[in-house]
Amino acid sequence: MILIENAKVVNFYPASIEPAIDIVIDDGMIVDKGKDLKSLYPQARVIDSGTFVSPGLVCSHNHFYSQLSRGMMVNIKKSYDFVQQLNNLWWRLDRAIDYDITLDSSLSACAEAVMSGVTSVIDHHASPNLIDGSLDAIEQGFLTVGLRGDICYEVTDRNGIDGATRGINENVRYAKKVDKSLKEDKNFLLSSSIGAHASFTICDKTLEKLAGAVKSTNKGVHIHAAEDRFDAIDSRYRFKKNIIERLDDLQMINNRSIIVHGVYLSDIDIDILNKRDGFLVHNCRSNMNNSVGYNDHISSFKNVALGTDGIGSDMLTELKFAYFKQRDVNGTLNPEDFVKMLISGNEILQRRFEGKKFGKIEKGYMADLVIWDYDSPTPLLPENLSGHLVFGLNSGNVKTVIINGKIVVMDKKPLFDYPGIMENSRKSAQRLWNNMNKLN
Ligand SMILES: [Zn+2]
Repeated sequence: MILIENAKVVNFYPASIEPAIDIVIDDGMIVDKGKDLKSLYPQARVIDSGTFVSPGLVCSHNHFYSQLSRGMMVNIKKSYDFVQQLNNLWWRLDRAIDYDITLDSSLSACAEAVMSGVTSVIDHHASPNLIDGSLDAIEQGFLTVGLRGDICYEVTDRNGIDGATRGINENVRYAKKVDKSLKEDKNFLLSSSIGAHASFTICDKTLEKLAGAVKSTNKGVHIHAAEDRFDAIDSRYRFKKNIIERLDDLQMINNRSIIVHGVYLSDIDIDILNKRDGFLVHNCRSNMNNSVGYNDHISSFKNVALGTDGIGSDMLTELKFAYFKQRDVNGTLNPEDFVKMLISGNEILQRRFEGKKFGKIEKGYMADLVIWDYDSPTPLLPENLSGHLVFGLNSGNVKTVIINGKIVVMDKKPLFDYPGIMENSRKSAQRLWNNMNKLN
């Protein structure tokens, strides 16, 4: 049992600040919250409340395998469009991944996530030469560090129909495994999705099998859609349907769907996704990095969350880019509109971890929270909280991180082997780059 004493409790959206509150945590949850509770819980470990305490942050789309691409020293051919970039870089990278690279990328990505105040990550994994069991390696990273998350394998036809079938099997195998783990231990940290790469690398036969997997496992699909204009055009050209229409015709779109990017989704697609209550995940830095264009119709989506698409897991940095990019194109959304998107990741979690509540510091919510050291130069008020998040607060202000009631970072010190994880990660990165240099 943990008691955070005399805390300033901050909920980012809807914005609220309560002074001098004690928070009591037990068995993964916030079990009590109020004034002067210490005498009621004499057995609790009392910890310092820093400047303020908030719910943890959620990264709603990531690729941990991209972790080892940072500063990559590999000869990459010049690309003239998005599909060439996938061929020359990202698909060469995923083919170079083995088991240890998967494990070490997951470990170092999870470690960095928690150090930046992120308590949950939704990951989308691909490793065509290591499909079977790859999600177990990803899982091990989460469990070693103590991070919460949702994982899946990116199914695609681009490594043959056999590769697609094995990808579907890996998703279904892991879905059953995760359901069993959650049944045996209600505090198990992972849930799962049915992963798919993108419409343009999935034929109708594979898509039908994917739809079967969504149905049989009762999980949500997690897929890239219309990241580049090519994906949207290909769907209309080859399949005579818009992308979301194509998925919806197979009953794959529901309130657990995670549709990533959506830069070129049509009005028809957006209507279907909104009607089914599915989620769009916006990854502004990745869109800029891949030169695919900007999602300037983001306010047409009912549910929007934020992800990094493989550029680390620092969600305060991602939030800042998301806001500044839309200001750069004369967008009229406010900082608080983007904070709302950031906090929406909790709704994705609630739809995956059934019966659990996330994203608020209230009794009955999961104890995924961050204690911050942020001596602000201007008053910190509910009315200007989003301004502090966009223009000031950063991962350097993270003091203590608690996930599922367990302390994973205490007073800026990770309670897991951070240096060891990073040392192994660097070795695996070198091997990944060597493997890539051997591939054309
Ligand atoms: Zn992605």
